Amino acid sequence: VTVGVPKEIRAGERRVALVPKVIGKLGGRGATVVVEAGAGAGALIPDEEFTQAGATIGDPWACDVVAVVNPPTTEQIGKLRRDQVLIGFLSPLTHPDTVAQLRDAGVTAFAMESIPRISRAQGMDALSSQANVAGYKAVLAAAEHSTRFFPMLTTAAGTVKPATALVLGVGVAGLQALATAKRLGARTTGYDVRPEVADQVRSLGAQWLDLGIDAAGEGGYARELTDEERAKQQQALEDAITGFDVVITTALVPGRAAPRLVSAAAVQGMRPGSVIVDMAGEAGGNCELTEPGETVVRHDVTILSPLNLPSGMPEHASELYARNVTALLELMVTDGDLSPDLSDEVLAKSCVTREEEGS
Ligand code: NAD
Repeated sequence: VTVGVPKEIRAGERRVALVPKVIGKLGGRGATVVVEAGAGAGALIPDEEFTQAGATIGDPWACDVVAVVNPPTTEQIGKLRRDQVLIGFLSPLTHPDTVAQLRDAGVTAFAMESIPRISRAQGMDALSSQANVAGYKAVLAAAEHSTRFFPMLTTAAGTVKPATALVLGVGVAGLQALATAKRLGARTTGYDVRPEVADQVRSLGAQWLDLGIDAAGEGGYARELTDEERAKQQQALEDAITGFDVVITTALVPGRAAPRLVSAAAVQGMRPGSVIVDMAGEAGGNCELTEPGETVVRHDVTILSPLNLPSGMPEHASELYARNVTALLELMVTDGDLSPDLSDEVLAKSCVTREEEGS
């Protein structure tokens, strides 16, 4: 079986779906990797590193399996043929048109974001691996834009108090943001609508902001708040947020617009020079004043909404993603044969289109 790795063409994308480190492992399964020339350039991986690891340089779209990071464009889907397998982030909930095109092309497609979050599939959990990168980078961006230090400093010129950082939404990205802000020396606080997260927040040396709301939903995700809960949350957060130098927001509800957590009034109440990093920009943003993809200054508060944080750390983001894809491939390739068993829960749930027998 051959596995193709195209060069990513999304604007600003520096990641690549497979890296030289995993090619030997795939070879052990009887899979040969074909990399498009320059595919690793954004992550500073030259073609020679791929070939030294056993890959060949060629046309990835002709392979049995094509592994990508971003959803394919219509033009890319046009290069696929019936019976091919596509693996990548495919945004099935927000881009049903892409899924429809893949179905019409007869491609069997597996969406990395639809892999169930069960223990057995942890090694394939690309949402988590990339959220870890994003949470880390978000804190670094906040530090970069802050007019103040993160750590407490005792110097000959006097003492500087540590920054206070609040993380709203403590899933995978939020936990990494709390850990990173703590390492930089900030005093950290976490808030989520799933009370079960409180212990994880405390274990990272952060305070838990308790607003008395329990909105734990299906499968470990949050549900949307009721109008009453939302009003309560809005008021309580407005009061709380003003005391923080840095606010990182990550709150998402699957398949919905991002919940509004930081109102314009809350931004106005923050000290000048404070920073908000809104990681939910792609889903509309958690802050009322966010402009997705932009950095704006409102009421002397800098509000950042970077759309592809993992791409900003392309080497490790690609390496982690490549391990996730490899773990998924190991489920479907045995002795060089591609035979995805769709009765396997992991493959069944992540498969968004499949070529029907005889169609
Ligand atoms: P996510 O990116 O979907 O959402 C981020 C966070 O926002 C979540 O913690 C959510 O509760 C929170 N949120 C939603 N609405 C909110 C609101 N109104 N106010 C405040 N916070 C709000 O989450 P994620 O990082 O993908 O993690 C989701 C779940 O998956 C978690 O329970 C996590 O522990 C679990 N998980 C399990 C595994 C595994 O078992 N393999 C791996 C990773 C994550």
